[in-house]
Amino acid sequence: MSKVLIVEDELSIAELEKDYLELSSFEVEIETDGSKGMHRALHEEFDMVILDIMLPGTDGFEICKQIREKKDIPILMVSAKKEDIDKIRGLGLGADDYITKPFSPSELVARVKAHLARYHRLIANNVQENDIIEIRGLKIDRTARRVYIDGEEKAFTTKEFDLLTFLASHPNRVFTKEELFNKIWDMESLGDIATVTVHIKKIREKIEVNTAKPQYVETIWGVGYRFKM
Ligand code: CA
Repeated sequence: MSKVLIVEDELSIAELEKDYLELSSFEVEIETDGSKGMHRALHEEFDMVILDIMLPGTDGFEICKQIREKKDIPILMVSAKKEDIDKIRGLGLGADDYITKPFSPSELVARVKAHLARYHRLIANNVQENDIIEIRGLKIDRTARRVYIDGEEKAFTTKEFDLLTFLASHPNRVFTKEELFNKIWDMESLGDIATVTVHIKKIREKIEVNTAKPQYVETIWGVGYRFKM
């Protein structure tokens, strides 16, 4: 399920947006303060941000700029003033779209859907075709065999790298520990499926913000693991 963050100080508007998006099966969270909204957009995993411009704390222009430096998630800017739209364009902030108030909620939903569909297609193509896999803040360079989180390189052993890359190359597919062991470790290897568990734990310590709530490698209880797209 796609997760959308709405940063909007007018709670009635934010809740209207939320209601309509939830009807379309999106998971939605609201933040009414600009600075808090920016912090959450940068440090939590959202698939898209709907961003008001005039906000207490940090304004939408600055938030947009900061998100774009770190993440490639779609950003839809919402403005009460036509002049703001010229400013968004002029500043080259990297917003994907803009909509002026008042707008119809169904128009908003249609745009959110279109942007998310395009974004997920882009990620999927990226995973299949490129030597570089980039999903949210995680970047895997298959050729150089390097892994980065938010631009910072993390040291990986050969097997950890192979395991993570295999999972990330088949996003959203569940693999059992046996399947993963057979794929990554050759027949002569000593060890068993517990080896997989140990390696997953080490990978999570390197790439997850909170290993108890993994954003990348999920445990599917009773089955195995999957890489969450
Ligand atoms: Ca506002």
